[in-house]
Amino acid sequence: MDHFVAANRRILTLKSGKERLVANRHPWIFAGAIARESGPDSAALADLLDPQGRRIASGFHSQHSQIRVRALTFGDEELTEGTIRERIKAAIARRSGYGETDNAYRLINAEGDELSGLIVDRYDDIAVIEIANAGVEQLRPLIIDSVQQAIAPRGIWFKNDIPARKIEGLTMDPEWIGEGQPSAEIRENGLRFRVDAPSGQKTGFFLDQRENRALTRSLAAGRRVLNLFSYSGAFGVYAAAGGAASVENVDSSTGAIELARTNHALNGSAATFTVADAFDYVRKTSARYDLLICDPPAFAKSRGDIDRAARGYKDINLFAMKLLDPGAQMLTFSCSGHMSLDLFQKVIFSAAQDAGRRISFVRRLTAAPDHPVSLFCPEGEYLKGFLLEVH
Ligand code: SAH
Repeated sequence: MDHFVAANRRILTLKSGKERLVANRHPWIFAGAIARESGPDSAALADLLDPQGRRIASGFHSQHSQIRVRALTFGDEELTEGTIRERIKAAIARRSGYGETDNAYRLINAEGDELSGLIVDRYDDIAVIEIANAGVEQLRPLIIDSVQQAIAPRGIWFKNDIPARKIEGLTMDPEWIGEGQPSAEIRENGLRFRVDAPSGQKTGFFLDQRENRALTRSLAAGRRVLNLFSYSGAFGVYAAAGGAASVENVDSSTGAIELARTNHALNGSAATFTVADAFDYVRKTSARYDLLICDPPAFAKSRGDIDRAARGYKDINLFAMKLLDPGAQMLTFSCSGHMSLDLFQKVIFSAAQDAGRRISFVRRLTAAPDHPVSLFCPEGEYLKGFLLEVH
């Protein structure tokens, strides 16, 4: 079926007074902003009309999600198959510089590459794809074809685990299209890591932390390093490569610690490993550290979680700071989209107050540049962090 012809598109008409968001090129058009609709209800694409009937945006359609349209084009721009092919091509071309040193990076970062609802990561010769919306799902053949033409992967793993998929009636079962196994060994800044798409967190590896890992390597020489919430041990591997005096990886998951062991072994680097709850560990250990990485999972999964999440971030940061002497440094992160930078800074402030540490911000940290954020959709900026120094 040709999803692009007018007859196959859903037509949504905006309520009056809701035009401003669209004029600002925000790609999310919510159900509450729609006055009327017509056309096939399970269409892959939708055109959005203003109350006067003029088309003001077009994009991926979803019948059941709160985000009814993920807009790709605005105003007079035509949305054609060529638009999507060109955007995929352009996004992948933007990453061409990475190929020289690294073989793992994000190829397509949803809104940041003007492809709301679509994430594609490359791990050596495999691609991992996350599709967030029913319209995008219907265009899977086009996406597969474009990705194959651009990087000819050995296989593509469809992760299919975004909770919103369930609401949209999309399968939550992963799918592998390709040869062999959906796993790879990646190279990043001269280091090696094992990535297994089916068992991995996120799409398999925390690609967004690449530059913060490189920063860790540059700070690690001669230091005693604690890597809290270590997952793959990637920060620990970089610290060891930077000449750390010791590296301790702590994670509550035995699988994660096994992976961290594998990755340290792959790089011939020494480290110690502890399966523990990080909140307990920082309270109980008698060790002291000179460089500490605190990169927990998102504590705030929704807006309603923010207070509880803020207490969690404060708690872990407070007890982590107590393990540091003057001169020590700490990289601390929040990857909760619902937690603003401002609130995170306040949380760090109150942790330092209660820990009785004098602390300055040396740098603000964010996601690597293969995770661009659309100026029109700042919600895409979920990862925030600080490099702190204890005085
Ligand atoms: N820093 C990692 C990513 C961390 S992901 C990297 O750069 O790759 C978050 C990790 O925290 C997961 O591995 C999860 O198993 C672990 N985790 C979640 N809750 C925890 C807890 N209470 N204590 C210790 N680890 C925890």
